[in-house]
This record gives sequence, structure tokens and C-alpha cells, in this order.
Amino acid sequence: MIAPNDEIPGLPGSHVPIASPCLSYWQKTTRGFPHLNANQHAPVPATAKYVVIGSGIAGALTAFELLESGVKGTDVVLLEAREAASGASSRNAGHVRPDAFRGFMAYSRLHGPEQAVKIIQNEKLVLERVDEFVKAHDVKCDFNLTTTFDVCMTDEFAKYEAECFEAYQKAGGDVSHIKFFQGNEAQEASRVKAAVTAYEWPAGSSHPAKLAQWLINAAVEKGMAFFTHCPALKITKADSADTIWSVLTPRGSISTPTIIHCTNAHAPFLLPNLVSHVTPNRAQAHSLIPTPSFSSGKALTSTLSLRYSLAHFYSVIQRTGDGTIVLGVSRSNPTLSAATLAERINANDRYFNEEIVEDAMKQWGKIFPEYEQEQLVHGEGLDHAWTGIIAMTPDSVPFVGAIEDLPGQYICAGFNGHGMARIFTCAPGVVKLVQGKEWKETGLPECFEMTKSRLAKLVEPSKSVW
Ligand SMILES: Cc1cc2nc3c(=O)[nH]c(=O)nc-3n(C[C@H](O)[C@H](O)[C@H](O)COP(=O)(O)OP(=O)(O)OC[C@H]3O[C@@H](n4cnc5c(N)ncnc54)[C@H](O)[C@@H]3O)c2cc1C
Repeated sequence: MIAPNDEIPGLPGSHVPIASPCLSYWQKTTRGFPHLNANQHAPVPATAKYVVIGSGIAGALTAFELLESGVKGTDVVLLEAREAASGASSRNAGHVRPDAFRGFMAYSRLHGPEQAVKIIQNEKLVLERVDEFVKAHDVKCDFNLTTTFDVCMTDEFAKYEAECFEAYQKAGGDVSHIKFFQGNEAQEASRVKAAVTAYEWPAGSSHPAKLAQWLINAAVEKGMAFFTHCPALKITKADSADTIWSVLTPRGSISTPTIIHCTNAHAPFLLPNLVSHVTPNRAQAHSLIPTPSFSSGKALTSTLSLRYSLAHFYSVIQRTGDGTIVLGVSRSNPTLSAATLAERINANDRYFNEEIVEDAMKQWGKIFPEYEQEQLVHGEGLDHAWTGIIAMTPDSVPFVGAIEDLPGQYICAGFNGHGMARIFTCAPGVVKLVQGKEWKETGLPECFEMTKSRLAKLVEPSKSVW
């Protein structure tokens, strides 16, 4: 048993996901999923045409899209190190929230203004794709298409957001869907009494574990073989012509010409060249049971990002139905102790951090005094806290595409805490590439492509703008 401060052998991310992680609110409410522990003792097949590694939303959607494109279900194997979708996809804060302009200046510094506009436009497209997908397939994942507010809690941050907005607009970015509020108007629109300014645009929330499970189930129903508790341990060449790979698992080896790595922060375990380019960061979220002031007709109808600075913010969604509030906390919050901040470079999702819980609840009470934390009845208030591991990249964008020098191997990972706002274009994109299409047919920003020249530029260890 690894204690909270125990070292996991090797560099962060250079090991398989730890055994016995904690459960998130999303996992606690989906324990009946029939494929949760699918084939957990069964040997893997000796061969497969496609092996997808990792059953989060990236891996599950990649497998689903392969089948949608005409690949036979029985040609695809999906490997998962723990139970079904046990990584960040089932542990996040529930937001499907495109960045509408805020990241523009930071992305511009990293990738230039043209790519920065494309990065932001892609997130807008993802929201549309998720909405279309959920409707077309009638996916019961509690998807709620609504609006979100970026609420600026300080004058400095209000100034920063105004600059980003202006710069994005000047670069040709579409801002027609964004509403701006100031002073009293911002406070009324967002329900945040300390709001300085606020921006509102379309966004959604979902039950991410239900979405991942729906995708897995749909692929299994079409014949895909799914193996849980079955980590890919090693990949070696299986022929001298470099066209077949052998994927070693605890339950046998699979020979395959095509591997798609959807392993999130654990990508460097099988792809050691990525060890300083994909870094695990532990993030924490909390579920709260609403008091009467946030129940029924008084529930929040939009989602929120309450922002003190780029590194210090709180994300809020309130679910329709059970009314649960999900409160996420930024990882680099400068008000936290040095010890807590140091703990975030970590791939151990078994524990949560008490100091982060205290900070979250204190800020929640301060921002929403009407929640009346002091007068909770039994059953109201903090319900659960959990952690998950997100994958940061030094240039704040994911790695998508063919892995040069490893013919037949592809990657779709490194979502920098924005997976719900990126995967629904990246996974279909990687499937197009697997099928021999050109990058431009993916429609993705060019800077997402996994190229040797991009890797060569990433000399610094992972240091994202978020
Ligand atoms: C607390 C928290 C809050 C977040 N909030 C949001 C949010 O509100 N909005 C948003 O857009 N994003 C959010 N994110 C980020 C988002 O959840 C991720 O970007 C997204 O889930 C990544 O999906 P994925 O499929 O790439 O990774 P994962 O869901 O982590 O899936 C990777 C899978 O690969 C498996 N795996 C790894 N190595 C191996 C191996 N060797 N063999 C077999 N299997 C392996 C893992 O067990 C895991 O199941 C949050 C994340 C956290 C942790």
C-alpha cells in the first residue's frame, strides 16, 4: 500500500496507473456498469488488427470511431490497466467548457496567433460535436447544454481578460457568442456578489463516467474485445520488417500492426521519449449537496469559473436532477502551502488533500454566503472529495497522430486538463490518420500534431499555461 507521501518507483508518469485508486462522485454513482471489470481474468488474444491502450474518453471514442468508420468490432482490442475508464475521464469536474478567448495570449506566445485562434475555435467545435453526438445516439450521460460564466474576481484579472478578449477579436477570433457584463450586471447575471466583470458563452456539463461507459458499451456491443485490469507493460518489435508490434500484458502478448496510445499522463511509460513532455498533475474535485438556497428553482443554471488569477480559480457545475454541485480547484492555487503545491506533480490518485478541501469549502462559503455552511442539516454540504491525474504538455496542447520512428503507433493524449473540450475532435482525428488520411483532413490545429520537430522544440519540462 502506497502512503500519501510514498515515492512511486520511477519518474511521475513512467509507471502504469496505481492499483486501488479512490472513487470519484462519478464512479460512486456508476458501480453497476456491466463492463466495469470486463474480462479481468481472461487471456488476451494472440493477434489483433488494432490495439487501443487506455479506456478513458480518448481511448473509448477512438475505438468507437474506428468501428463507425467500418472497422470490424472483432478487429479491435481495448486494454485498460484498471477498471473501465478509471482515469481522469471518470474523475473530472464535469465541465464540457470551451475556452472562448482567455487562453489566446498564452497560446499566441507558444504557437503564434493563427494557431491560437484555431486552438480556441476547435474547443467551440468540440462542444457542438458533443452536443450532436449525445443527441444523435441518445447517450444518457446527463449532458446539459447551457452557458458558462468566466467571473473575474479581481480588478487585475478583469484587466487581463479584457486584454485577451481584445487580442482574440483583433486576430479575427469569433466573439459573437460571448456576452460581457460589468459591476452590478456581472453580479446579477453570475450570482457572484464579488464579481468585477463576467463573460458568458455556451458550454455544457455531463456525467463523464456515463459518457465513457456508453462509448465502451457501444463498441463492445459491436464485437470489440475489452480487457480491464490488463495494463500494457511493454511494446516490442515482433518482426524484422518493423510492421508488427507485440504488446505485452500480464495475461499474454498481442501481435498487432496498429497501436493507439490513449494513456493520458501515463503515456511515457510505454513511450519513454515523452517522459519530460507529458507530465502527470494531480487535480482535485469535490461534490456538495445543495442547501435550499441552491436547490430546486434556486439551482445554478449556468456553470462557472471563478477566477482570481490564471493559476487561482474554482470551477463549478450544478447537475440537473440530483442537484449535486461539483467544485473543482486549480492545481497551482498560490494560496496553498508549498507542500500541497509540490504534491500535485504526482500520478497517485488514491488520496485527496485536506488542505485543498478546506480551501475549496472556505472559498465556496465566501463567494456564496447564501449557501449558509454553518446551518447545514445532516446530508447537506461536502459530500465527497477525489483526485485524478491530468496530463500536461510543455506547449499546452495535446499530442495527436502518428509516432514517427514507430510505424503503426499513434497517440491521442496530453489534454492539459481540457480533455472534455478537445477529445471529441482529436479522437476522430487520430482515427482518420490511422486510416491513412492527411493531417488537414482531421481539421485539427497543426500544433496538435505529434512531430519530431515539435518534440525537439520542447526542451523545457512540462509547464502549461493553465
Ligand atoms: C479533478 C479533475 C478535474 C477535471 N476537470 C475537467 C473539466 O471540468 N473539463 C475538462 O475538459 N477536463 C477536465 N479534466 C481533464 C479531463 O478529465 C481529461 O483531460 C480527460 O479525461 C483525459 O481523457 P483521456 O482519455 O486522455 O485520459 P484518461 O481518462 O485518464 O484515460 C487514460 C486511461 O488509460 C489507462 N492507462 C494508462 N496507462 C495504461 C497502460 N499502460 N495500459 C492500459 N491502460 C493504461 C488509465 O488507467 C486510464 O483509464 C479534469 C481532470 C481531473 C483529474
